[in-house]
Amino acid sequence: MFTSSEISEIQKLLTPSHKIVIITHYNPDGDAVGSSLGLKHFLKQKGLEADVIVPNDFPKFLKWMPEAKQIIIADYKRKQAGEAIYNADVIFVLDFNASHRSGNLVGPWLEKARAKKILIDHHQQPDAFDYVYSDVTIPATSQMIYHFIQELNEENLVNKDIAECLYTGIMTDTGGFRFRSTSATTHRIVANLIEKGADPAMITSNTWDTNTVSRLHLLALILSRIEVVKDGKVAILWLKREELKEFGFQKGDTEGFVNYGLSIMGTQVAAFFMEDLYDDFIKISFRSKEDVDVNQFSRKYFNGGGHINAAGGKYMKTIEETIVDFKEKIEQEDF
Ligand code: 5GP
Ligand code: MN
Repeated sequence: MFTSSEISEIQKLLTPSHKIVIITHYNPDGDAVGSSLGLKHFLKQKGLEADVIVPNDFPKFLKWMPEAKQIIIADYKRKQAGEAIYNADVIFVLDFNASHRSGNLVGPWLEKARAKKILIDHHQQPDAFDYVYSDVTIPATSQMIYHFIQELNEENLVNKDIAECLYTGIMTDTGGFRFRSTSATTHRIVANLIEKGADPAMITSNTWDTNTVSRLHLLALILSRIEVVKDGKVAILWLKREELKEFGFQKGDTEGFVNYGLSIMGTQVAAFFMEDLYDDFIKISFRSKEDVDVNQFSRKYFNGGGHINAAGGKYMKTIEETIVDFKEKIEQEDF
């Protein structure tokens, strides 16, 4: 939560004379897009305009959200994005904890921007911003946007557009209301969002019933060679660039693949290694159960971070070397 004096300062910043920008992280996911658009629609209800800027493109299955098409993708619209950030009076920083997570293009712009910066995020160890609302116990930044609206005492302004966006963010970041930090409060908020017009069946279908045959074939390939090590406690999945190309990889196609590793009885950690489509690095996703902390593990060995049970990283070796190194590190871990 913000303190009450912070909230009144923020309320004063939110005026039509101020230019407002909302920024989220590189490779935006459902919570990133949902929280950003949810906040934009809320500001609209207050009579304010805001630009949502994302560093790079996001999956097609998120583009059904109200006004997703108006999002400025900095990769494609450098000038417009750069000027908006430069000219902003207020910047909301959503669903990430450090400027560099918004990428090599937007990150430095964000650092240099003269705007007042307001962070709302649920990742560990946030950097300093002018105003910080950080809570790692909340499963989605979209839920935090709802709490922010409550703190402003403006729940009455929540409409269908806001509800759909926040519902999507909460649904995706909790894996369909299942992951560990999903709470009674989460469900109460979700109930409110449904009452305000969010349609669970429509949102689920738009977001998740979006498989293509080639994506399912890619999934079949990865599942066919899943490997389990460390007495069945660690599952390993991997994909090579050539395979991504062969199956006509589209952004978002591998989302959720890592979770299959955790669905195996007895696993504590799942790791998914994927060669980047263009550059020579390996993108890694880690997932874990209970108290096994993949955030620390990824920070320590794989140049990454995230949450206790969901983290990512980047490694500059070949995929074979990366997996060898991973197996060695994981054996040293105590779980
Ligand atoms: P995913 O595996 O879905 O890409 O990421 C899981 C979580 O880890 C997300 O919350 C994401 O923000 C975080 N994450 C992913 N990649 C990185 C990274 O390279 N560095 C850091 N610090 N966090 C990451
Ligand atoms: Mn999130």
